[in-house]
Amino acid sequence: PARTRFAPSPTGNLHLGSIRTALFNYLLARRTGGQFLLRIEDTDQKRTVPGAEDRLFKDLRWAGLQWDEGPIVGGAYGPYRQSERLFLYHTHIQTLLEDHKAYPCFCSTERIDHLNRMRHEKGLPLGYDRKCLDIPVEQAEERVARGEAHVIRFHVPQQYPKYEDLVYGKSGHGDAKSKQYMFDEPVFDDPVLIKSDGFPTYHFANVVDDKLMQITHVIRGSEWMSSTPLHVALYDAFDWTPPQYGHVPLLVDAKRQKLSKRNFDSDISSFRDKQAIFPETLTNFAALLGWSHQQKSDVMDLSELENIFDLKITKGNTIVAFEKLNFLQEQHARRRVDARGEQFEQMIRDVAVALLEKHGAAKITQFVSKRKLRDVIASMLETESLPYQNPRRFVDSIDVFLKDDYALKRSPLRDVVADLTFLPDIRVAATTLLLVPTESWTREAHRANLAQLEIQRPTASSSEQASLAAKAGKKNLYAFLRWALLGGAQGPSIPDTMEVLGRDTCERRIREAVL
Ligand code: GLU
Repeated sequence: PARTRFAPSPTGNLHLGSIRTALFNYLLARRTGGQFLLRIEDTDQKRTVPGAEDRLFKDLRWAGLQWDEGPIVGGAYGPYRQSERLFLYHTHIQTLLEDHKAYPCFCSTERIDHLNRMRHEKGLPLGYDRKCLDIPVEQAEERVARGEAHVIRFHVPQQYPKYEDLVYGKSGHGDAKSKQYMFDEPVFDDPVLIKSDGFPTYHFANVVDDKLMQITHVIRGSEWMSSTPLHVALYDAFDWTPPQYGHVPLLVDAKRQKLSKRNFDSDISSFRDKQAIFPETLTNFAALLGWSHQQKSDVMDLSELENIFDLKITKGNTIVAFEKLNFLQEQHARRRVDARGEQFEQMIRDVAVALLEKHGAAKITQFVSKRKLRDVIASMLETESLPYQNPRRFVDSIDVFLKDDYALKRSPLRDVVADLTFLPDIRVAATTLLLVPTESWTREAHRANLAQLEIQRPTASSSEQASLAAKAGKKNLYAFLRWALLGGAQGPSIPDTMEVLGRDTCERRIREAVL
């Protein structure tokens, strides 16, 4: 069983990239019968945004990613907020200090800045020159005891340890794609573990917590990959076994630019509140960003994902195609409709609200007349040729049904029905469609009736093949009905249209058309 964690900093909103990271960790835990932890990494107090934490909880829960241990729910390895764990970082830094694997550094920020400016000018990598490493231990301890401002640095090993990434393979030995993130040479020299305010840095707190919380697998964005050798080196310094690391590809837009606030608003709240995307759509969409599977269909809800998830994750950047999001939303909407449950009723209510907002009550009651608004909307949603993405778009797509009778029938009939010789038979056939009683006025009934109808010419020429004529007759009938019912406008199939329009409207329009 895998113990995984999602470790966000409460600095903003959850976005697509972070929900995917959370999701992969959640799925790995579920799939292996393990636990999924939530840890708040709030050691950079200047960056902590008030309210961000609550939004985070809300967003994760909305997406269905309930954590087994963490804030609110608690757990045996708490507290789960780093700002409440400072005593643990302090005991652990003592171990490293005693083993001479870390040392206090008294250099001022001015000195470090100056050092880096010089290095920059010479084209050298930035870093620390280890001036304070040479201070004798007793002397350093004395200065610390006197309260002199200092940080604590990690004395990095000569060579960074190699580790095997679950996605990218062996560090330093991967292919070109991995190499762009992996470094044989240390990129950090003697990074800070404890800042001058006594707070740990991300690296130190992250490693100590993953260890103490007994995390077995760390799945995170590839922007953290260059830090992993340092993290593994810290495990080594403590003589601990590191967890397994897997880095997931960066999300980019169609122009291969990193997804960011500037090029795309990928906040969870924007998907949920502005676009009315379902949670199962979003988790489905996020799961497919870099993960590949053997299923026949890409459409999967969270529980289906929990059953099949593995770490078959691609290397390199992942292009986020938002057409896919719309496709998945339509598919999940269809599932909600087919399930006929409470979520379907909610969709009906949302469409009703959007309908009233767009068209006003007077228009709606006129259209629905004696029928129930709920049933009319339900039958619209059941129409397979009317895809649903969100209430507003759906209402736009059903405009054709709401046209008044007088607004219909603009084009002359001869432009619609190609072969007017069929017309007498078509008129009769159209009238027979009205024989269906109100109680059984359903798309199924109309479909069956339409299938049975045969349209013939009054004078069938002997040379004409009967089946060809029948086909042409049917085509002309459909064109006629579309003209009669919707003024020739494009729209859902005739049986769907008839069900949605209802008996009264169909009768009125067909009668008028056959005159
Ligand atoms: N706090 C880091 C973040 O905000 C966590 C990175 C990690 O998973 O190690 O993404």
